[in-house]
Order: sequence, then C-alpha cells, then structure tokens
Amino acid sequence: MPDQPGRNAIEVRDVSKIFGSGDARFAALDRVSVAIRENEFFTLLGPSGCGKTTLLRLIAGFDFPSEGEIFLYGEDIAPLPPYRRPVNTVFQSYALFPHMTVAQNIGFGLEMLGKPKNEIKARVELMLKLVRMEALANRRTSQISGGQQQRVALARALAPQPKVLLLDEPLSALDYKLRKEMQIELKRLQNETGITFIFVTHDQEEALTMSDRIAVMSAGKILQIGSPRDIYDRPAERFVADFIGESNFLPATMVSKQDDHATVRLTSGAEISASLPQNASPAGDVTVVVRPEHAQFAAAANGAPLAGTIENVVYLGTDTHFHLKLDTGEPFIVRRQNARGHADHREAGSRVGILIPADAAQVLRD
Ligand code: ATP
Repeated sequence: MPDQPGRNAIEVRDVSKIFGSGDARFAALDRVSVAIRENEFFTLLGPSGCGKTTLLRLIAGFDFPSEGEIFLYGEDIAPLPPYRRPVNTVFQSYALFPHMTVAQNIGFGLEMLGKPKNEIKARVELMLKLVRMEALANRRTSQISGGQQQRVALARALAPQPKVLLLDEPLSALDYKLRKEMQIELKRLQNETGITFIFVTHDQEEALTMSDRIAVMSAGKILQIGSPRDIYDRPAERFVADFIGESNFLPATMVSKQDDHATVRLTSGAEISASLPQNASPAGDVTVVVRPEHAQFAAAANGAPLAGTIENVVYLGTDTHFHLKLDTGEPFIVRRQNARGHADHREAGSRVGILIPADAAQVLRD
C-alpha cells in the first residue's frame, strides 16, 4: 500500500501558520505540503517545537492556516467546524471522564451525536472487543491502568468511525515496555479498521516501528517524506540522518554522476560510489553519510579506502560499536552484529581499514 499511489485522504497545500506579529512574528509552519493517502499510517516526526501539533490542530479544525489550504478527499475543509469534520483526535492526556465506566466513555461521542441507544450499544461492544477491554467494560476509568486508559481513549475516538484519526503523542505517558506493546497494538488497530492514522511523535524508533510513511519535520518545514526504509537508508539532509539513527558524515568532492549514483572522492583520496538524493543536484564539495552498520572492516589498513585507529569499543549485547579516529582526523563509527560465538574482538588501539560497500553511502542534499 505505501508505495502505491492511493486516494488522498488529506492533502495539505502550501500551508503556513504564523503566530504573533511584528518582531514577534513566528512561522510555526512554513509552506508545508503533504498528501496523506487513504488507509495510510502516516507519522509526523520531529523534535519538540517543530510544528507537528500545529499541523494536527489545523487538520482537526481547532485552528486555521495563515496561508494555504487543506483538502479532505479533494474538498477544501476550511468552512467545516471541527465537529463537522470526519476526523477525530487522541491526545497525549487521554482526557477520559473518571466518574464514567469504560463503556460509557466509549459511547460518549456517539451519544453527543444523538445516535439511537441500540446502535450505541452495538458499537460500544464492537469497540470493546477491538481494543480487548470487554472484561473491564463496567469499571470506572479512574480504576484502570494507564495502558488500559489508552485503549479506552482509542476506542472512544474510533467509535464514531472517523475517516481520519489524529494521534498526538498518545503513548508518551506509558512506560517503555507498555509503549512497545501499544505500538504493535496501534498498528493492528489501524490495519483492522482501515482508518487513515496521522500520528505525531518525536521518537524515531516509534515512527520506524509503526509507519507506512514518515514526514520528518524541523523548524516548521517538512524536510523529507518516505517509507521508514527510505528515510533510514536514504536520508536526504544532515538533519534527517542525524535525527534518525546514527550516522557517519564524511566530507567529499563530486567526481562524476551516473543516473541516481555518483562517484565521490573522500579526503583520504579514495573514490567511492554513493547514491544521489532525489530532486537535488549536488555539485562540488558535498557531505556523504554512511550508517555505522553499513561500513565494513577491511582485511588490512593498507590500501583500504579509509584507515584509522580504534579509540573506543562499546559492547551492547546484540552488537558492538567501534569508535574510530580516521587518519584524516574525522571520527567514524563501525557497528558489528554479535553472532553467538562470533563477536568481533578488535580492540582499542588497533589500526584498521574500512570498506564502504556499493550502496552504503549517500550524498546529502545540503
Ligand atoms: P512538541 O513535540 O513539543 O509538542 P511540536 O512539534 O508539536 O512540539 P508545536 O506545538 O506545533 O510543536 O509548536 C510549534 C511552535 O509554535 C513552537 O515554537 C510553539 O512555541 C509555537 N506555538 C504553538 N502554538 C502557539 C500559539 N498559540 N502562540 C504562539 N506560538 C505558538
């Protein structure tokens, strides 16, 4: 689904949101455009203050764009107040009613919509089953755990069958283990309901785990949109490569280009092959990014494209990180997986060579 051009559920076109005026004028969103497909699990990922919540609020109708338009299934939603939009939101604070039971909380939105009692009952039962909370239907929400409250908040938001569900950091109050469980649970809920999810998080691991596609945001702009694999393997900008996973950045010079690949010269003098970013034409001095697990140790330091000395070895159970200082003075990390009985025993102080396999290097846009 993610790579097939489906119908767009939401299309955000050139949207800016300006707060304040004069010297205090501040663009929380700066000409943001993004199309979110029907049935997609789409994540807005970025650090605190980059504009994620602002974008969700504009889609929900809690606030209005200063410029630009938002379309829902091809229709401009500007004239629609929040309650007329087929969009629901799950907030970080679940905002449940503590004096009501689980079932009453889930049915609340449907009652507000004036749905008939038997329809509400059937729908609540279905939602209880969906979030696996049938056994606690008659408990007050003040008497259930944080993870269970999260499920109720989800069920309540899904009950009126919105076309789009907005989720603003809904798992951040949960402890690590529960959070991991709920990530899988959310993905299952999205699959089973077929509802388009727009999920906001600043946690890169969470975004990689759940999303069909991710938009990486920084300072009011979307820097890159792609599948988790695209974003991880082909980061287009330094910010994206730095924010998601670990990266080695190497200064280089463009030598030649062939379609979506280039030959670049590293400061060591070695020439390697590297992928080019989409919609960009880098020239002259560039930066190349190499993920630590994509680099390999060469049989010998002599003759390898990069050579250096191991300064620090960090054993992390599943893998080991080798922190190197290259002969050119740059830092470099190599990550090796530890197979049982085959851990890499290179030690600090050793001189090593490094190979950058074809496809492991990516030229950055900026
Ligand atoms: P977080 O992860 O911390 O929630 P975020 O990416 O969701 O961050 P936003 O809440 O969208 O960020 O805020 C983006 C920027 O806009 C921030 O610098 C914030 O201070 C500013 N901002 C948000 N709402 C307002 C407002 N009503 N008036 C003025 N500035 C605002």
